[in-house]
Amino acid sequence: MPVYEFECKKCKQIFEVVMTMAEAALQKVVCPICNCEDVQQQFSPFSAVTSKKS
Ligand SMILES: [Zn+2]
Repeated sequence: MPVYEFECKKCKQIFEVVMTMAEAALQKVVCPICNCEDVQQQFSPFSAVTSKKS
């Protein structure tokens, strides 16, 4: 399953959520640290590069 990286706008923590694309579309992600829903998905330009483990 893909790993999605989010940043909490409230506590500024970066956290990763593992879920399917379908879940990602439906699920409301909350910050695991402060339980805040005000999170923003991070689109790291390095995520594609770092997945070169085959
Ligand atoms: Zn937070």
